[in-house]
Amino acid sequence: SKPRVAVVFGGRSSEHAVSCVTAGSVLRALDRDKYDVVPIGITTDGRWVLERDEPERLVIQAGRLPEVDEKGTAVVLANDDERGLVCLDPAAGPTALGRIDVVFPVLHGPFGEDGTLQGLLEMAGVRYVGAGVLASAVAMDKHYAKLILQANGFPVAPYTVITRRAWETDRAACQEAVDSLGYPVFVKPARGGSSIGITKVRQRADLPEAVEEARRYDPKVVVEAAVLNAREIECGVLESLDGGRPEASVVAEICYDTEYEFYDFQAKYLDDETHVDLRLPADLEPSVAQEVQDMAIRAFEALSVEGLARVDFFLREDGTLLLNEINTMPGFTPYSMFPRMWAASGLDYPSLVDRLVQLALRRPLGLR
Ligand code: ATP
Ligand code: MG
Ligand code: MG
Ligand code: MG
Repeated sequence: SKPRVAVVFGGRSSEHAVSCVTAGSVLRALDRDKYDVVPIGITTDGRWVLERDEPERLVIQAGRLPEVDEKGTAVVLANDDERGLVCLDPAAGPTALGRIDVVFPVLHGPFGEDGTLQGLLEMAGVRYVGAGVLASAVAMDKHYAKLILQANGFPVAPYTVITRRAWETDRAACQEAVDSLGYPVFVKPARGGSSIGITKVRQRADLPEAVEEARRYDPKVVVEAAVLNAREIECGVLESLDGGRPEASVVAEICYDTEYEFYDFQAKYLDDETHVDLRLPADLEPSVAQEVQDMAIRAFEALSVEGLARVDFFLREDGTLLLNEINTMPGFTPYSMFPRMWAASGLDYPSLVDRLVQLALRRPLGLR
């Protein structure tokens, strides 16, 4: 019988809507002759529900962002060999969904991309697409990701971390640590994505408001020195099917109008290509492109990522690279950078989705 793929999407993070849009594309792309597909939504308050298989609903329309439909039957994961995923809605009774062979967690941000869902799936003995518990958790947390990257010799921008306690008890020390980075700085939720909660701060007086904005999403805040006049470069990485060295996509560059302060949510998802220009491939010296690809693969391996990642860089005017971050479940609509980089590398969207499912199906259960 066909492998059954549960596409899990939505979720509790600020990127709920982005996840829904990605899920719509993944649901459309999965080959129904090859796989049985079970769409499962996670509502914004964390309830798991069976969704209708209606990818056409999961799009951004006239600026309106999609959401998981709360009215579905509640489900939870259980490793019941007979029934697989079981519905545990007390009102509906234990309706079996049937065996699930692989979960495709199309989730961005905390409680999805950060190792928590991955831990649940490990406990339940269910295979899943993408990075495992540790890699997901480290990559999601811009503080710990930097520690691991620095320990492995990757160049990262100078930064400081503001914990909840430091901010609430020693504001002056936080302020001083940020001042010593020099302005402008970027203030970010430690665990976030899609630029949500990020502010570019040009002067000392504007710091508190930016920290409070980031703290709406995460009690831990990372503040980075702004990398000025740099080009924004991204590279996709995919685990190889034969267990060899991961593969890098062509390198891409993001160019946007100067009216944007930075590559923010609006530029990423809401505005069209008259304002944001994704260059595939980026116009780079071959040696620089190669360095980006090599660094992307090494970063993927340094964090023990599995499946896929999009590695974001800054290329400074002097030709040196800084590694900004690694996303273990990057934006994945057909318009998103990750699939487009792979399309430009010869792997179209349905083939990419298929490859990710195949990688997950081959994965051994337990410690890897
Ligand atoms: P995503 O996961 O969607 O790529 P994110 O929310 O994890 O985004 P970052 O990639 O860290 O956030 O930052 C978002 C954008 O903010 C960057 O693409 C860049 O435009 C700008 N930015 C972030 N940090 C810096 C920095 N230190 N210097 C200059 N620009 C920065
Ligand atoms: Mg990110
Ligand atoms: Mg992200
Ligand atoms: Mg980024």
